[in-house]
Amino acid sequence: ANPNIAFIGLGIMGLPMATNLVKAGYQVSAHDLDPSATQRVADQGGTAATSTAEAVRGADIVITMVPDSPDVEALLLGEDGVFANAESGTLVVDMSTIRPDVSRLVAEEGAKRGLRVLDAPVSGGEAGAIEAKLSIMVGGEAAAFEEARPVFDVLGTTPVLVGPAGAGQTVKAANQLIVAGNIQLVAEALMFLEAHGVDTEAGLEVLNGGLAGSTVLTRKGEAMRNRAFAPGFRIELHDKDMKIVTTAAREAGVTIPLGAQVAQYVGALKAQGHGGLDHSALLKIVEQLSTE
Ligand code: NAD
Repeated sequence: ANPNIAFIGLGIMGLPMATNLVKAGYQVSAHDLDPSATQRVADQGGTAATSTAEAVRGADIVITMVPDSPDVEALLLGEDGVFANAESGTLVVDMSTIRPDVSRLVAEEGAKRGLRVLDAPVSGGEAGAIEAKLSIMVGGEAAAFEEARPVFDVLGTTPVLVGPAGAGQTVKAANQLIVAGNIQLVAEALMFLEAHGVDTEAGLEVLNGGLAGSTVLTRKGEAMRNRAFAPGFRIELHDKDMKIVTTAAREAGVTIPLGAQVAQYVGALKAQGHGGLDHSALLKIVEQLSTE
């Protein structure tokens, strides 16, 4: 029989992921601080839980998908959180993007309580979550990974065990470094083409067929052309991720000059009040720095 799943955190990513598990035949007990999000999973055939404790009761696997490191610490380690309510032996899979050291901490705290914990952040964005095409970067024990694999196979196409606890987050930090830099350069190229009066639709199409092509260009190019910056992936979350990667790079003695610069731009957009926009809004920085 399929394991029972508790799914906590039903935002832009968690809601379609939980829905895909329901559609694949899993019993999903869902919970979000926003009851309307919980209800949406129930509408699809899941069970609405009014608290973390209620969601976790009877679950074999607990999946969490919340914004930031303090959210994960509160949700897993908090007084009436996941660890306080999960039965010994439960597999806890945190799919949020957080600091690697926090993932290591919660894995250690879980082990003390007889729980197994994986960090399993994802890449692929809202579209990847909806279409079940996420890339899943997993840190933890091999046996726990194998147990979670059927669930990962429902949510994505590329689950990979990359190392021990925290390693999934390290790989995700590298992912966010590449994505931010790629968005920045696509934005610069687009502004450059516009300023030269080039047909940017045709321009981006042919660029995408060559070595400059990328998922970022495919997914974000059109949004940038139209200055349509509804999220997707919010600037405030990418700011969190650039802080993770710049801190982790400094700790390791690795210099990431371009990443550090893009981190400044992402932080500036957040400071300007654009934290709720999609990360493709990095184009605004290029606009601000360019002449009319
Ligand atoms: P979101 O803000 O849309 O959703 C987070 C949800 O968690 C919200 O609905 C919130 O109410 C809920 N939540 C927070 N704390 C909770 C708690 N204690 N109990 C229950 N619910 C709680 O964020 P998102 O875009 O879905 O991102 C979630 C995570 O996935 C982040 O770490 C983000 O960096 C990562 N991520 C996002 C994307 C993307 O494109 N949006 C892509 C890959 C990874």
